[in-house]
Amino acid sequence: MTGAEASSTAAPASADDAVRAGLTSVQVTLARARAGANAIPASRRPPVVLLLARQLSHFFALLLWAAALLALLAHMPQLSAAIVIVVVVNGVFAFIQEYRADRSVDRLRDLMPAQAVVRRDGHRRQVPATDLVPGDVVLLEAGDRVSADLRAYSAAALAVDESLLTGESVPRRVQAGQELYAGTFVVEGAAEAIVAATGTGTRLAAIAAMTTQTRRPPSPLAVRLARVVRIVAVTAVAAGTVLFGVGLLLGLTPLQGFLFALGVTVALVPEGLLPTVTLALAYGAHAMARRNALVRHLEAVETLGSVTFICTDKTGTLTRNQMSAVRVWTPAGQAVITGEGYDTRGHVDAAPTVGEQVADLAYAAVRASRGRLVPHDGARQPHGDPMEVALHVLALRCGVNVDARAANEPEQRWLPFDPVRLRTASLCGTTLYTKGAPESILADCRGDTAPALLAAHTMADDGLRVLAVARRATVAPEAAPDARDLDLIGVVGLLDPPRPDVGDAIAACRRAHIRLAMITGDHPATARALATQVGLCGSDPLVVTGAQLPADDRELGELVDHDGVVVARVTPEQKLRIARALRARGHAVAMTGDGVNDAPALREADIGIAMGASGSDVARETADLVLLDDHFATIVAAVETGRATFANIRRFLTYHLTDNVAELAPFVVWALSGGTFPLAIGVLQILALDIGTDLLPALALGAEPPNPRTLTGRARTGQLIDRRLLVRVFGVLGPAEVIASLGAFTAVLSLGGWHPGQAPAPSLLAAASGTAFAAIVLGQLANAFACRSETRPAFLLDPRRNRLLLWAVAVELVLLCVFLGVPVVVRTLGGSWPPLAGWGFAALAVPILLLADTAHKAWRGRRLSTGAAVRR
Ligand code: ADP
Ligand code: MG
Repeated sequence: MTGAEASSTAAPASADDAVRAGLTSVQVTLARARAGANAIPASRRPPVVLLLARQLSHFFALLLWAAALLALLAHMPQLSAAIVIVVVVNGVFAFIQEYRADRSVDRLRDLMPAQAVVRRDGHRRQVPATDLVPGDVVLLEAGDRVSADLRAYSAAALAVDESLLTGESVPRRVQAGQELYAGTFVVEGAAEAIVAATGTGTRLAAIAAMTTQTRRPPSPLAVRLARVVRIVAVTAVAAGTVLFGVGLLLGLTPLQGFLFALGVTVALVPEGLLPTVTLALAYGAHAMARRNALVRHLEAVETLGSVTFICTDKTGTLTRNQMSAVRVWTPAGQAVITGEGYDTRGHVDAAPTVGEQVADLAYAAVRASRGRLVPHDGARQPHGDPMEVALHVLALRCGVNVDARAANEPEQRWLPFDPVRLRTASLCGTTLYTKGAPESILADCRGDTAPALLAAHTMADDGLRVLAVARRATVAPEAAPDARDLDLIGVVGLLDPPRPDVGDAIAACRRAHIRLAMITGDHPATARALATQVGLCGSDPLVVTGAQLPADDRELGELVDHDGVVVARVTPEQKLRIARALRARGHAVAMTGDGVNDAPALREADIGIAMGASGSDVARETADLVLLDDHFATIVAAVETGRATFANIRRFLTYHLTDNVAELAPFVVWALSGGTFPLAIGVLQILALDIGTDLLPALALGAEPPNPRTLTGRARTGQLIDRRLLVRVFGVLGPAEVIASLGAFTAVLSLGGWHPGQAPAPSLLAAASGTAFAAIVLGQLANAFACRSETRPAFLLDPRRNRLLLWAVAVELVLLCVFLGVPVVVRTLGGSWPPLAGWGFAALAVPILLLADTAHKAWRGRRLSTGAAVRR
């Protein structure tokens, strides 16, 4: 008999017969014809073609299309084709990113359960939820998802989690006559309810429709990238305009001048940037997955890197979640239990009378549990909540035959864990067994509970997780949830040792200037003992309980914004407030959660972290990051990868922008000399650099693994492009590359007999141009190694740590030979195979660039250390 039916038998005698019988098959068929299937319509997302078209038709893209058309009209088909490639590649990547990000509606659809239990034709049946029609009688119990909008007909201690609809984290108590909404979750109690609205008529459908209409706000990374692109585009357009004017002065026709300027503009825009960023994030996500951290959307990779505050759970995250009951207190005396893990051969060290009471406590605790040690392949396997498994193991160690005793009093009603009253209970026969947090259980017990409370405190001070176990004889099913006047059986202390490498991970957070707080539902003394043991806090930690948190959010922020705070006995709602208060203080907050009720807090945090192994589906659905192993160290590993990814994006930005300086310089020199100094490289050569030789090294830089310094110092939450990067690009690396390429260009021209002011012979110019091109490519080759670090010279970095880069530069060299050696390509791009001396000059680009980079890094390093000395 289910809880729902138990309560229906207790319903008043005047109960509506229609509800007792439910709809008839005929009524169902008729109603279905009217109302249709009970399903949330699939997101009416515009068709893929349309989305793609949108990415190819925004303002910047239109500009480029126009450019391509003009280039075609002006008989420059290669330039035209190159521009088209640029637009399409960027459009496709932008499309993929948007497409991936926009699946929230599908997630809402997943909230509809597959099955529902109804009463039809007087019988209880399980039907597909899509079959429900208005008027159907639905039977609900704890653990169910509501399958349509309902009106409760009868409700027994019903509580519903509606956080996904309302953001309200505390479950709502629902009385008969009140409404229930599709997609919400029954956390407690049972009910009979009548379907009021199905499918598109539900509130869930309305929210889904709203979700399709509202666009997600852009992520911080998207905002920063847009800024970078804007800066570069403005620079490019400005350069193009100036060169257009210069071209006109030099006697180009307006069309020629316009095309020339347009070519320069197109060339200066970092075409490879967006794809490279996407791939770097995808690579970061992949690297995290290898370390057991699954990110649910790509931007989370970058957000993780900027985390400054981690609020972590205790059980399972800092501890192993492999519990064993080690101490029991009963009114008759104490017992100490020994045994290995889940091995049922243990030893109960107690006087015989006490032993009996311990066995009694173990039996009661198991009845008030769902977790069991079950036979599996000849061995016994834990199933369910590890703490409850440990209680079963205790019963087995005491020699209690739970199944035999349970046969006499079958379970009538199960009351799952109540996060407010911190207990579970089960009505077996007419006896109610309950176990839970001592303060809560003992408050409902008869008699003198002071000795039990003292025993519980002593155990908690030793870091044990403490439960009180109680029972009450003769309880009616509908009175079960609120049963008081319990008889205490005893108190049990469970040991849950910390995970071995948690201490190291915590130390890593300290080095990374990330603050830590332990946020737990457990007892403050237990939490404090563990926090001290793993080094989360010193010997005199700040321990507050949820009830002590100030009501004012600003005060709350001030209170918890310290490293090593322990907040115990928190409710999910308080977790939400803590996340909000810390964010208001400027922190990027990562918050873990596992329960159904943690969803709002996970959503509020910048990074919501759900447990993959033990958490609820709802928590996983809302989270940004899922820990496959529930392990705290995995969070730290993910933060490290996030930081590394951010650093990598800066690495290839530096790399790309340096190239742009080298590409722009020939045009500037040509323009400043009034056209007397020949143009060293052409627009198509620039595109060959940007989307040819540059691309693979840039991607390889995006895959640079984290180094030992990644987790030292503060998170780099600043801009992608800051002064430091600009100085490096425009003051050091760029000029070095310009000197190398224009130097090599001039040298080859001079060797060929050219004097300033003359127009060089076409074949000489082609050879010199090929040399300049080779110098830039070789300079970029060296630059790739220089960009691996912002502080350390290239030769100090172990090349084997980024093998991808070695392959990338090998391909870069092959491409260089193709671009300068294959006749068709050479004719298209311009610039021919350099003479031997030319290769020699071009090769100088490598030492020039590395020297400039090393000198700059050494100078900066010295300045920083003397600066630090002065400050000290
Ligand atoms: P934690 O932060 O350690 O995961 P929880 O929120 O899971 O804490 O639990 C809070 C408290 O609720 C525990 O200290 C315990 O007293 C009680 N509790 C947790 N799980 C159960 C359970 N399965 N049965 C009874 N009581 C429980
Ligand atoms: Mg827990």
